[in-house]
Order: sequence, then structure tokens, then C-alpha cells
Amino acid sequence: MRDAPDVQRPAFVGRGFALAEDPVDVLHRWFGHKAFRGRQEEVVRHVVGGGDAVVLFPTGAGKSMCYQVPALCREGVGVVVSPLIALMRDQVEALRQAGVAAAALNSTLTSAESYAVRQDFLSGKLKLLYVTPERLVSDAFLDFLGRGRIALIAIDEAHCVSQWGHDFRPEYMQLAVLAQRFPNVPRMALTATADPQTRDDLRRRLALEDAPVFATSFDRPNIRYEIVSKTNPRRQLLDFLSRRRGDAGIIYCLSRKKVEETAQYLNEHGFKALPYHAGMDRAVRDANQDAFLREEGLALVATIAFGMGVDSPSVRYVAHLDIPGSIEAYYQETGRAGRDGLPSDAWMTYGMSDLVRRAQMIEEGEAPAEVKRVERAKLSALLAVCETAGCRRQAILAHFGGSHPGACGACDTCITPVETWDGSEAAQKALSAIYRTGERYGAAYVIDVLRGVASEKVTRAGHDAIKTFGVGADLDEKVWQSVIRQLAAIGAIVVDHDAYGALTLGDGARAILKGERRIEMRKDRVFKAERVSQKSVRAAAAAALDEPSQRVFEELRSERMRIAREQGVPPYVVFHDSTLRDMALIRPRNRGELASVQGVGEAKLERYGAAFLAAVARADR
Ligand code: ADP
Ligand code: ZN
Repeated sequence: MRDAPDVQRPAFVGRGFALAEDPVDVLHRWFGHKAFRGRQEEVVRHVVGGGDAVVLFPTGAGKSMCYQVPALCREGVGVVVSPLIALMRDQVEALRQAGVAAAALNSTLTSAESYAVRQDFLSGKLKLLYVTPERLVSDAFLDFLGRGRIALIAIDEAHCVSQWGHDFRPEYMQLAVLAQRFPNVPRMALTATADPQTRDDLRRRLALEDAPVFATSFDRPNIRYEIVSKTNPRRQLLDFLSRRRGDAGIIYCLSRKKVEETAQYLNEHGFKALPYHAGMDRAVRDANQDAFLREEGLALVATIAFGMGVDSPSVRYVAHLDIPGSIEAYYQETGRAGRDGLPSDAWMTYGMSDLVRRAQMIEEGEAPAEVKRVERAKLSALLAVCETAGCRRQAILAHFGGSHPGACGACDTCITPVETWDGSEAAQKALSAIYRTGERYGAAYVIDVLRGVASEKVTRAGHDAIKTFGVGADLDEKVWQSVIRQLAAIGAIVVDHDAYGALTLGDGARAILKGERRIEMRKDRVFKAERVSQKSVRAAAAAALDEPSQRVFEELRSERMRIAREQGVPPYVVFHDSTLRDMALIRPRNRGELASVQGVGEAKLERYGAAFLAAVARADR
């Protein structure tokens, strides 16, 4: 194995200086990656050359390489600001596994450990040092840093500096001080949140206005989107999970109670699932999170309390049993799937009840009227994605100001195009039923009136005598629910929370009632447990391994589990799924062949080569 590349080098002068090592070399030897991806190389060369940078890549694009490689190429230690201790811990562990001298300074260290890390920083033995923002900005710590040699400063999750973002952290605001304290050190801000407000905000607040912005498309091509209308959510979930048996995933629910119930239900039906929410005993919750990161194939049923800091690359699916509040939240949550680039699923079931519930949450919230208006608009934007008959990916990316030609081939509407129908007349009937019953009733009641169901409540109110009673008897209840949802998605119907979820007419209703606007509606698919289209079978098969390779893969997986348990680390820090997958396909017979597998760098070859070669041989017999 190589020595750490920072032994004796010429003195470091200013920002520009001779390369200690070539970036491509570093990428290859330390991380086992064959080539840079996307705009990584541009960023790396720019920072190695002494430049500041703002890096906006989607989750899983490989932001870490953008600072880890330059830190190894440049003189000195790379200082990384990271908001969460759990995040740091995993990153440091992964770096150590790759043979890189890395450490974190945080409150969990004993004073002796902390002293040792400081010494390693000052002596230049370290290559990467992770710190929390609150520690970094203290005067004493800045003085300490000034006594060592810093290769670069990377501010990870940089959107935390912005109040526009969803994870605002006041400590981040003070990070601008780094520009004054270390004017000769390249600074980088990295994030996956790139809406224009957050971007401008973070450049300003971190004093990076002059730094070039390296952004890539926010598309996550390996994630497949599927949104189904809610009929029997638990059975629908089981059906979905049966396609992902043995995979790890996150299942989001809105309430703590539902988290508990869903986890129990899944366990009763043969899926290993653990709950996670903020109301649980802390120790149990942490244990469940740890189990999720360290074991294979677990489902974690969680509220959104589980999220940031989940850096596990091999989450194969994210399922939503309840609709999030915005496209931003949906994209962030689903983005936790497939960080390793392998095919992954984002699946959601939603229905009218979600809509009512979300509307209620907005109205009951503490936010000022102005903010509530924005929240309602954000919810509508997500509803439009749910109800689109077009490509979901296109609709999502359009929301973020990106363009996608559509027909992505990896969302439910592209895989099995939805039929549409001329819903203009149905829309008029629904709106008129709402109007004639006084805009005082929920969806179930309105549907009864439309279908001519003379329930006690309907007759008592005399609504069996109005003109619209029974005009919609030709369509069944599910279709009417779908019509109402679609009208809500375009704002023609508004759910009035103050009137207990009553449907009222919105801005778009008038033009529809007057026959001025034609409404194309999507036909909801009928849910049948075993319905899987031919195309999706093929897509899944292409991603899956053939039988013999699958066997090798399983063997490699248990070898990895054994090693990870022995060391008490998450399996993915040993090797990622994508690396095991490559190994299963290549079936290396010697070190040379093993070294050619992506993700196998020199340190890991040294440490694990023999064990994994033996595992391949075992499985291949
Ligand atoms: P981000 O921080 O942008 O979400 P990460 O830095 O965690 O992404 O990287 C995501 C995954 O991509 C990791 O599994 C990492 O090993 C892998 N990766 C990064 N760069 C490359 C590359 N050039 N070639 C192959 N894999 C890469
Ligand atoms: Zn699509």
C-alpha cells in the first residue's frame, strides 16, 4: 500500500502550487473509481488550482469526491464542515476504509481522542478533518486551524445557511468569517438544494459571490417514479414491497401512530420493518436507525423526523403512504433512494383524504396568511404531479426550472401510458353538485348526490330533489373521486378546512361550468395485486442479475455483512452494492481482476481482496 501522499512537499505559497498528485490518479488509487462523473473533474481541477467553488449537484451525483480528491491532491488538510455528527461518522469511516487519514472533531470524543486528532491535524498527518459549524466558528478553534496547513475548506449541506431552505441552521451564518480568516484557502459550498433563492442566498451569506457555480441537472435517472391512487394502502404497499423483497427502503407516514401500525402490519406480513419517529424513546429510535444502516434488507417506517444525515447509498426504495407537502419535500425524500446509482423506486399512494389532511395542516398551522398561501400553492403543485397524464419526471423537473423532454421511460405514466378521457361534462356535473348543495359538504356526500344515492343525510337535506341528484349515476364512486381530485389539482375545487373539509368552488370553476374550458382527465388504473405490466417486468429484469450472478452477489453480500459486523460499521463502508454487483458480474479470479472492479481502491484491495476472492470462488463452484 502507498504512503499517505503528504510526507515532505515543497512549501505551500499562496493558492496556486504544484500538484502533489494527479486527480485522476487519486480517484483511481484511493477510491477505485475509473473516471470522474459529470462535472466532478471540472470542480476538482478548479479547486486544486486554488479556486473557490459552489457545487450544486443532486443527491448521489458524487459531491464528496469534489472535495475529497482535491484535499488529497493539495498540500495540507481538507477541513469539512458538516451539520450532523452521524453524517460525519459515516463519512470518516468510509474514508478510513479507503485508507485515507480522516477524523472528526465533535462532542462525542474524549479529551484524549480530541487531543490526538488535533495533533494529527497540526502535524499534517491527517488529510481530512470534519467539524460541526458551531465548533468551527469559535475564535479558539479558528486560531487552532491557523496553526496548521489547510488544503481547502468544504461547507457541506450549504443550503443550511439559508432561511429559504428547509434545514436552516443559524450556526451556518457565521461561516462567512472563514473568508476573512483564511483568504488564501480555497472554499467550497456544496448542496443538493438548488432553487434560485437558496442558491443566491448561500453565495451571499458564505461570501462566495465571486465563485463559479458548478451545477448539473437535477434529474435522478436511476429513480423510477410511481404514484398510485389510494384504494387499499396497506395492501398496495405489500404489493409494492413484494417486488422489492430483500431490499432496504424507507416508508414515510405522516403520523407517529401510523408509523407504529404500519411497521407492525409489515412484520405480521413477512417484511422486517422497524419504526422511527420523534416520539419514541431516544435509545430505541437510535438503535432502529443503526440497525437500518447496518443490516441488510430492512424497511424503516418513519415520519420525516428520519431524513437528513441518512447517507446510506443503498436505499433501494422510498415509499410514501401519505403525500408530502410540496414537490421540494417529495423530491428530497425520494432522493434518499439510490444514491449509489443503481435502479431504485420512489413509490407513493395518495387519495382525497391526503388532500383534506394536508389542507387542514396548513390552515391549523401557525404561519402567517402570506406563508399559508405559498404552502397551498406548493401543495397544488405536487397534486398536479400526482394527477398528470404525462411524464412525472418532466413535471417534477419543470417545477425546479429544468427541462426534460419527457418520455423518460422510468415513471409509471411512461412505462404504462395512462388513458385520458374528455372529463368536461363530468367536471361540470361535479362542480354543479358542489354549488347546488351549498359548498358545505365533503367528497363522499357530493359523490352520493351525483350518483343518486338517497342516503338519510341526503334526503334530510332535501338534496334528492335537486337537479344534479343522480346525474352521475353512469360513473362509479372511484371515478368520481378521481374527478374531484383532478379538479382540486387544477384549483377548480378548493378544500375548505374551516368547514370541516367541505368542497368549495375555486378560481378555475367558473370557466368549466360555463363550458369554456375543456378538461382532459386521466383514467385511474385499477389496482390489482398482481398487475405488473410487461414493460416494467422487462425494465426490472434488465437491472436484475441473472441467476448465477445473483448467487455470487448473495455470497458477496454475506461476506460483506460478516466483515461489517466484525468491525461494527455499516456494510456499505466496506463495499457498495454497486461494487458487489460488478464483482458478481466480473467474477474476478485474482487481485488484478479484482482491482478492475469499480469501487475497489488500493487500501480495500489490500484489506479485503483475499476475503472477497474467496467468496467469489465459493459461490462460483
Ligand atoms: P452526494 O454527496 O452528491 O449525494 P456522494 O458523494 O455520497 O453523493 O456519492 C454518491 C455515490 O457515488 C457514492 O456511492 C460514491 O462512491 C459514488 N461516486 C462518486 N463519484 C464517483 C465516480 N466518479 N465514479 C463512480 N462512483 C462515484
Ligand atoms: Zn416519465
